[in-house]
Amino acid sequence: STSTPVGPPPMDSKAKFKAFAAYEAKGSIKDFEYVPIPLKDDEVEIRVESCGVCHSDLHQVHNDWGGASFPLVPGHEIVGIVESLGKGVTTLKEGMRVGVGPQTGSCGICQDCKRGAQQLCKKKLKSYNTPTGDKLQPHTYGGFSERLRVKAHWAFPIPSGIPPNKVGPLLCAGITTWSPFVHYKVKKGDKVGICGFGGLGHMAVQFAAKLGCKTYVITRSPNKKPEAEKFGAAGFIVSTDEKQLASHKDSFDFLLSTISGPGVKWEQFLNLLKPDGKLCCVGLPPSMTFRPNALVVKRLTICGSYLASHSEIKSMLDFCDKYKVYPQTEELEMNAKNANEALEKVEKNTVRYRMVLVNKQ
Ligand SMILES: [Zn+2]
Ligand SMILES: [Zn+2]
Repeated sequence: STSTPVGPPPMDSKAKFKAFAAYEAKGSIKDFEYVPIPLKDDEVEIRVESCGVCHSDLHQVHNDWGGASFPLVPGHEIVGIVESLGKGVTTLKEGMRVGVGPQTGSCGICQDCKRGAQQLCKKKLKSYNTPTGDKLQPHTYGGFSERLRVKAHWAFPIPSGIPPNKVGPLLCAGITTWSPFVHYKVKKGDKVGICGFGGLGHMAVQFAAKLGCKTYVITRSPNKKPEAEKFGAAGFIVSTDEKQLASHKDSFDFLLSTISGPGVKWEQFLNLLKPDGKLCCVGLPPSMTFRPNALVVKRLTICGSYLASHSEIKSMLDFCDKYKVYPQTEELEMNAKNANEALEKVEKNTVRYRMVLVNKQ
Protein backbone atom coordinates (compact mmCIF):
# COMPACT_ATOMS: atom_id res chain seq x y z
CA SER A 1 0.00 0.00 0.00
CA THR A 2 1.22 3.49 -0.74
CA SER A 3 0.24 4.59 2.76
CA THR A 4 2.63 2.28 4.65
CA PRO A 5 6.17 3.59 4.83
CA VAL A 6 8.74 0.86 4.30
CA GLY A 7 12.01 0.82 6.24
CA PRO A 8 13.10 3.29 8.89
CA PRO A 9 10.96 6.39 9.29
CA PRO A 10 12.36 9.56 7.77
CA MET A 11 14.54 11.70 10.03
CA ASP A 12 11.88 14.33 10.50
CA SER A 13 9.06 11.95 11.35
CA LYS A 14 8.69 13.40 14.84
CA ALA A 15 9.01 17.00 13.73
CA LYS A 16 5.92 19.00 14.46
CA PHE A 17 4.20 21.33 12.06
CA LYS A 18 3.23 24.75 13.34
CA ALA A 19 -0.22 25.89 12.38
CA PHE A 20 -3.14 28.01 13.56
CA ALA A 21 -6.37 26.40 14.67
CA ALA A 22 -9.77 26.97 16.20
CA TYR A 23 -10.02 24.60 19.18
CA GLU A 24 -13.81 24.68 19.34
CA ALA A 25 -16.75 25.89 17.28
CA LYS A 26 -16.74 29.71 17.16
CA GLY A 27 -13.45 29.66 19.09
CA SER A 28 -10.75 32.12 18.17
CA ILE A 29 -7.74 31.01 16.17
CA LYS A 30 -4.76 30.06 18.33
CA ASP A 31 -1.30 28.60 17.86
CA PHE A 32 -1.37 24.89 17.18
CA GLU A 33 1.21 22.17 16.60
CA TYR A 34 0.79 18.68 15.29
CA VAL A 35 2.83 15.66 14.31
CA PRO A 36 2.03 15.12 10.64
CA ILE A 37 1.36 11.72 9.13
CA PRO A 38 4.62 10.46 7.54
CA LEU A 39 4.93 11.63 3.96
CA LYS A 40 3.21 9.11 1.69
CA ASP A 41 4.59 7.95 -1.63
CA ASP A 42 2.10 10.01 -3.61
CA GLU A 43 2.45 13.16 -1.50
CA VAL A 44 4.59 16.24 -1.38
CA GLU A 45 5.50 18.40 1.56
CA ILE A 46 4.90 22.07 0.96
CA ARG A 47 6.30 25.06 2.79
CA VAL A 48 3.28 27.34 2.85
CA GLU A 49 4.02 30.82 1.54
CA SER A 50 0.53 32.20 1.93
CA CYS A 51 -3.10 31.24 2.27
CA GLY A 52 -6.24 33.10 1.29
CA VAL A 53 -9.19 33.43 3.64
CA CYS A 54 -12.52 32.27 2.26
CA HIS A 55 -16.02 32.81 3.62
CA SER A 56 -16.35 29.05 4.01
CA ASP A 57 -13.39 29.07 6.42
CA LEU A 58 -15.56 31.20 8.65
CA HIS A 59 -18.53 28.83 8.24
CA GLN A 60 -16.29 25.90 9.18
CA VAL A 61 -14.81 27.63 12.23
CA HIS A 62 -18.37 28.42 13.33
CA ASN A 63 -19.47 24.88 12.41
CA ASP A 64 -22.41 26.44 10.56
CA TRP A 65 -22.77 23.40 8.33
CA GLY A 66 -22.16 20.80 11.07
CA GLY A 67 -19.51 18.11 10.95
CA ALA A 68 -16.48 20.31 11.65
CA SER A 69 -13.74 18.58 13.67
CA PHE A 70 -11.67 20.50 16.18
CA PRO A 71 -8.93 21.56 16.48
CA LEU A 72 -9.64 22.88 13.02
CA VAL A 73 -6.90 24.41 10.90
CA PRO A 74 -8.70 26.43 8.23
CA GLY A 75 -7.37 27.56 4.89
CA HIS A 76 -7.92 26.14 1.42
CA GLU A 77 -6.36 28.78 -0.79
CA ILE A 78 -2.83 27.61 -0.31
CA VAL A 79 0.35 28.44 -2.17
CA GLY A 80 3.79 27.24 -1.30
CA ILE A 81 7.03 25.63 -2.34
CA VAL A 82 7.53 21.89 -2.68
CA GLU A 83 10.23 20.88 -0.22
CA SER A 84 9.99 17.08 -0.15
CA LEU A 85 8.72 14.50 -2.59
CA GLY A 86 7.12 11.18 -1.78
CA LYS A 87 8.92 8.26 -3.39
CA GLY A 88 6.37 7.86 -6.14
CA VAL A 89 6.10 11.50 -7.18
CA THR A 90 7.38 12.19 -10.67
CA THR A 91 5.24 15.15 -11.73
CA LEU A 92 6.62 17.75 -9.31
CA LYS A 93 10.11 18.78 -8.31
CA GLU A 94 11.56 20.22 -5.14
CA GLY A 95 11.52 24.01 -5.27
CA MET A 96 8.44 24.25 -7.48
CA ARG A 97 5.69 26.65 -6.50
CA VAL A 98 2.35 24.88 -6.21
CA GLY A 99 -1.20 25.78 -5.28
CA VAL A 100 -3.63 23.68 -3.27
CA GLY A 101 -7.35 24.39 -3.13
CA PRO A 102 -10.29 22.98 -1.17
CA GLN A 103 -10.02 19.59 -2.85
CA THR A 104 -6.98 17.42 -2.22
CA GLY A 105 -8.05 14.08 -3.61
CA SER A 106 -10.76 12.00 -5.24
CA CYS A 107 -11.39 8.26 -5.51
CA GLY A 108 -10.44 8.09 -9.17
CA ILE A 109 -12.81 5.23 -9.96
CA CYS A 110 -16.38 6.50 -9.55
CA GLN A 111 -18.55 7.70 -12.43
CA ASP A 112 -17.80 11.33 -11.68
CA CYS A 113 -14.05 10.84 -11.41
CA LYS A 114 -14.05 8.82 -14.63
CA ARG A 115 -15.84 11.56 -16.53
CA GLY A 116 -13.42 14.15 -15.22
CA ALA A 117 -15.76 15.78 -12.71
CA GLN A 118 -13.62 15.00 -9.66
CA GLN A 119 -15.17 17.81 -7.64
CA LEU A 120 -18.41 15.81 -7.56
CA CYS A 121 -16.73 12.65 -6.23
CA LYS A 122 -18.44 11.51 -3.02
CA LYS A 123 -15.11 10.32 -1.64
CA LYS A 124 -13.20 13.50 -2.34
CA LEU A 125 -10.61 14.60 0.16
CA LYS A 126 -10.56 18.14 1.42
CA SER A 127 -7.64 20.23 2.51
CA TYR A 128 -9.06 20.29 6.02
CA ASN A 129 -11.61 18.36 8.04
CA THR A 130 -11.27 15.06 6.18
CA PRO A 131 -10.77 12.17 8.67
CA THR A 132 -7.41 10.43 8.22
CA GLY A 133 -7.68 7.47 10.62
CA ASP A 134 -4.38 8.57 12.19
CA LYS A 135 -4.11 9.15 15.94
CA LEU A 136 -1.66 12.03 15.89
CA GLN A 137 -3.30 13.78 12.96
CA PRO A 138 -6.93 12.59 13.05
CA HIS A 139 -8.05 14.82 10.19
CA THR A 140 -6.51 16.92 7.49
CA TYR A 141 -5.36 20.40 8.41
CA GLY A 142 -5.51 23.39 6.10
CA GLY A 143 -3.28 26.19 4.97
CA PHE A 144 -3.21 28.37 8.10
CA SER A 145 0.06 26.63 8.65
CA GLU A 146 3.76 26.68 7.97
CA ARG A 147 3.73 23.31 6.25
CA LEU A 148 1.39 20.88 4.63
CA ARG A 149 1.51 17.38 3.18
CA VAL A 150 -0.79 16.73 0.29
CA LYS A 151 -1.21 14.47 -2.74
CA ALA A 152 1.06 15.65 -5.53
CA HIS A 153 -1.80 15.27 -8.04
CA TRP A 154 -3.74 18.02 -6.25
CA ALA A 155 -0.80 20.40 -5.86
CA PHE A 156 -0.95 22.43 -9.05
CA PRO A 157 2.22 23.92 -10.52
CA ILE A 158 1.89 27.69 -10.60
CA PRO A 159 2.94 29.57 -13.74
CA SER A 160 5.83 31.84 -12.86
CA GLY A 161 4.05 34.94 -14.18
CA ILE A 162 1.46 34.97 -11.41
CA PRO A 163 2.58 36.98 -8.36
CA PRO A 164 2.95 34.41 -5.53
CA ASN A 165 0.67 36.09 -3.01
CA LYS A 166 -2.08 36.42 -5.63
CA VAL A 167 -2.19 32.68 -6.25
CA GLY A 168 -4.09 31.54 -3.14
CA PRO A 169 -7.50 33.06 -3.88
CA LEU A 170 -7.38 31.64 -7.40
CA LEU A 171 -7.56 28.15 -5.89
CA CYS A 172 -11.07 28.68 -4.48
CA ALA A 173 -12.63 32.00 -5.50
CA GLY A 174 -10.95 31.62 -8.88
CA ILE A 175 -11.82 28.03 -9.72
CA THR A 176 -15.38 28.42 -8.41
CA THR A 177 -16.10 31.22 -10.85
CA TRP A 178 -14.01 29.83 -13.72
CA SER A 179 -15.66 26.42 -13.92
CA PRO A 180 -19.18 27.68 -14.79
CA PHE A 181 -17.90 29.56 -17.84
CA VAL A 182 -16.16 26.42 -19.09
CA HIS A 183 -18.80 23.88 -18.13
CA TYR A 184 -21.76 25.87 -19.44
CA LYS A 185 -19.85 26.92 -22.55
CA VAL A 186 -20.16 30.66 -22.13
CA LYS A 187 -18.63 32.21 -25.22
CA LYS A 188 -17.20 35.38 -26.63
CA GLY A 189 -19.88 37.96 -27.32
CA ASP A 190 -22.34 36.54 -24.77
CA LYS A 191 -24.00 39.05 -22.50
CA VAL A 192 -23.03 37.96 -19.01
CA GLY A 193 -24.14 39.33 -15.67
CA ILE A 194 -22.22 38.79 -12.45
CA CYS A 195 -24.65 39.05 -9.55
CA GLY A 196 -22.91 40.08 -6.36
CA PHE A 197 -19.52 41.71 -6.32
CA GLY A 198 -17.25 40.41 -3.58
CA GLY A 199 -14.45 37.85 -3.44
CA LEU A 200 -16.08 35.57 -6.00
CA GLY A 201 -17.68 38.31 -8.07
CA HIS A 202 -14.51 40.29 -8.66
CA MET A 203 -12.87 37.17 -10.11
CA ALA A 204 -15.90 36.27 -12.23
CA VAL A 205 -16.00 39.73 -13.80
CA GLN A 206 -12.39 39.44 -14.88
CA PHE A 207 -12.88 35.98 -16.37
CA ALA A 208 -15.99 37.02 -18.30
CA ALA A 209 -14.39 40.20 -19.58
CA LYS A 210 -11.22 38.44 -20.72
CA LEU A 211 -13.30 35.73 -22.38
CA GLY A 212 -14.73 38.51 -24.53
CA CYS A 213 -18.20 38.57 -22.99
CA LYS A 214 -20.28 41.72 -22.65
CA THR A 215 -19.90 41.75 -18.92
CA TYR A 216 -22.18 43.46 -16.42
CA VAL A 217 -21.96 43.66 -12.68
CA ILE A 218 -25.35 43.49 -10.97
CA THR A 219 -25.30 44.57 -7.34
CA ARG A 220 -27.26 46.46 -4.71
CA SER A 221 -24.32 48.80 -4.07
CA PRO A 222 -24.23 51.72 -6.55
CA ASN A 223 -20.84 52.80 -5.17
CA LYS A 224 -19.12 49.71 -6.58
CA LYS A 225 -19.35 50.95 -10.17
CA PRO A 226 -15.78 52.30 -10.52
CA GLU A 227 -14.37 49.07 -9.10
CA ALA A 228 -16.52 46.97 -11.41
CA GLU A 229 -15.24 48.92 -14.39
CA LYS A 230 -11.66 48.59 -13.17
CA PHE A 231 -12.04 44.79 -13.32
CA GLY A 232 -13.41 44.91 -16.85
CA ALA A 233 -17.17 45.29 -16.54
CA ALA A 234 -18.67 47.00 -19.57
CA GLY A 235 -21.87 47.77 -17.72
CA PHE A 236 -23.25 48.13 -14.23
CA ILE A 237 -26.78 47.51 -13.01
CA VAL A 238 -28.04 48.51 -9.58
CA SER A 239 -30.40 45.69 -8.63
CA THR A 240 -32.68 47.97 -6.62
CA ASP A 241 -33.25 50.24 -9.62
CA GLU A 242 -36.36 48.94 -11.42
CA LYS A 243 -35.78 51.25 -14.36
CA GLN A 244 -32.27 49.97 -14.99
CA LEU A 245 -33.46 46.38 -14.67
CA ALA A 246 -36.31 46.99 -17.12
CA SER A 247 -33.92 48.38 -19.72
CA HIS A 248 -32.03 45.05 -19.72
CA LYS A 249 -35.09 42.77 -19.71
CA ASP A 250 -34.73 39.54 -21.74
CA SER A 251 -31.19 40.39 -22.82
CA PHE A 252 -28.71 38.24 -20.86
CA ASP A 253 -27.33 34.91 -22.02
CA PHE A 254 -25.84 33.95 -18.68
CA LEU A 255 -26.06 35.16 -15.11
CA LEU A 256 -23.62 33.97 -12.48
CA SER A 257 -24.89 34.47 -8.95
CA THR A 258 -22.18 34.78 -6.33
CA ILE A 259 -24.75 36.00 -3.80
CA SER A 260 -24.82 34.29 -0.41
CA GLY A 261 -27.10 36.63 1.50
CA PRO A 262 -30.87 36.46 1.96
CA GLY A 263 -33.58 38.64 0.44
CA VAL A 264 -32.75 38.28 -3.25
CA LYS A 265 -35.60 38.93 -5.68
CA TRP A 266 -34.79 36.03 -7.97
CA GLU A 267 -37.58 36.84 -10.41
CA GLN A 268 -35.74 40.06 -11.23
CA PHE A 269 -32.80 37.99 -12.42
CA LEU A 270 -34.97 35.56 -14.37
CA ASN A 271 -36.55 38.55 -16.09
CA LEU A 272 -33.12 39.67 -17.27
CA LEU A 273 -32.46 36.41 -19.13
CA LYS A 274 -33.04 35.76 -22.82
CA PRO A 275 -34.97 32.68 -23.90
CA ASP A 276 -32.78 29.63 -23.17
CA GLY A 277 -30.66 31.75 -20.83
CA LYS A 278 -29.05 30.32 -17.71
CA LEU A 279 -28.82 31.44 -14.13
CA CYS A 280 -25.92 29.65 -12.47
CA CYS A 281 -25.49 29.75 -8.69
CA VAL A 282 -22.13 29.47 -6.99
CA GLY A 283 -23.14 31.37 -3.87
CA LEU A 284 -25.27 29.74 -1.19
CA PRO A 285 -28.13 31.98 -0.08
CA PRO A 286 -30.30 30.49 2.67
CA SER A 287 -33.15 29.87 0.23
CA MET A 288 -34.35 30.62 -3.27
CA THR A 289 -37.95 31.60 -3.92
CA PHE A 290 -39.56 32.61 -7.20
CA ARG A 291 -42.64 32.04 -9.33
CA PRO A 292 -41.61 29.78 -12.19
CA ASN A 293 -43.42 31.78 -14.89
CA ALA A 294 -40.33 33.26 -16.54
CA LEU A 295 -38.54 29.94 -16.18
CA VAL A 296 -41.27 28.17 -18.12
CA VAL A 297 -42.13 30.63 -20.85
CA LYS A 298 -38.50 31.44 -21.68
CA ARG A 299 -37.25 27.84 -21.29
CA LEU A 300 -34.65 29.03 -18.78
CA THR A 301 -32.17 26.92 -16.88
CA ILE A 302 -31.28 27.44 -13.25
CA CYS A 303 -28.12 25.54 -12.48
CA GLY A 304 -25.26 25.36 -10.04
CA SER A 305 -21.54 24.87 -10.02
CA TYR A 306 -19.15 23.60 -7.38
CA LEU A 307 -15.38 24.11 -7.27
CA ALA A 308 -13.80 22.88 -10.53
CA SER A 309 -12.52 19.74 -12.15
CA HIS A 310 -8.82 18.91 -12.15
CA SER A 311 -8.44 20.00 -15.77
CA GLU A 312 -10.42 23.20 -15.22
CA ILE A 313 -8.09 24.16 -12.37
CA LYS A 314 -5.14 23.81 -14.73
CA SER A 315 -6.84 25.73 -17.53
CA MET A 316 -7.73 28.52 -15.09
CA LEU A 317 -4.13 28.90 -13.95
CA ASP A 318 -2.98 29.12 -17.57
CA PHE A 319 -5.70 31.66 -18.34
CA CYS A 320 -4.80 33.79 -15.31
CA ASP A 321 -1.16 33.73 -16.33
CA LYS A 322 -1.90 34.63 -19.94
CA TYR A 323 -4.43 37.40 -19.27
CA LYS A 324 -3.03 38.60 -15.94
CA VAL A 325 -6.21 37.84 -14.05
CA TYR A 326 -5.45 38.14 -10.36
CA PRO A 327 -7.47 38.70 -7.23
CA GLN A 328 -7.24 42.00 -5.44
CA THR A 329 -5.89 41.12 -2.05
CA GLU A 330 -5.29 42.55 1.38
CA GLU A 331 -2.29 40.88 2.95
CA LEU A 332 -1.49 40.25 6.60
CA GLU A 333 1.37 38.32 8.11
CA MET A 334 0.23 34.84 9.08
CA ASN A 335 -0.19 34.51 12.82
CA ALA A 336 -3.06 33.76 15.19
CA LYS A 337 -3.93 37.39 15.81
CA ASN A 338 -4.06 38.26 12.14
CA ALA A 339 -5.98 35.10 11.29
CA ASN A 340 -8.68 36.24 13.71
CA GLU A 341 -8.60 39.73 12.27
CA ALA A 342 -8.91 38.37 8.74
CA LEU A 343 -11.87 36.14 9.65
CA GLU A 344 -13.52 39.06 11.39
CA LYS A 345 -13.13 41.21 8.29
CA VAL A 346 -14.62 38.43 6.20
CA GLU A 347 -17.54 38.20 8.61
CA LYS A 348 -18.12 41.95 8.48
CA ASN A 349 -17.82 41.88 4.71
CA THR A 350 -15.24 44.66 4.65
CA VAL A 351 -12.57 42.88 2.60
CA ARG A 352 -11.70 44.23 -0.83
CA TYR A 353 -11.66 41.55 -2.15
CA ARG A 354 -9.73 38.73 -0.56
CA MET A 355 -7.66 38.43 2.61
CA VAL A 356 -4.35 36.61 2.31
CA LEU A 357 -2.23 35.48 5.25
CA VAL A 358 1.44 35.50 4.34
CA ASN A 359 4.05 33.46 6.18
CA LYS A 360 7.16 35.38 7.14
CA GLN A 361 10.04 33.58 5.46
ZN1 LIG B 1 -13.28 28.73 -0.40
ZN1 LIG C 1 -14.59 9.50 -7.33
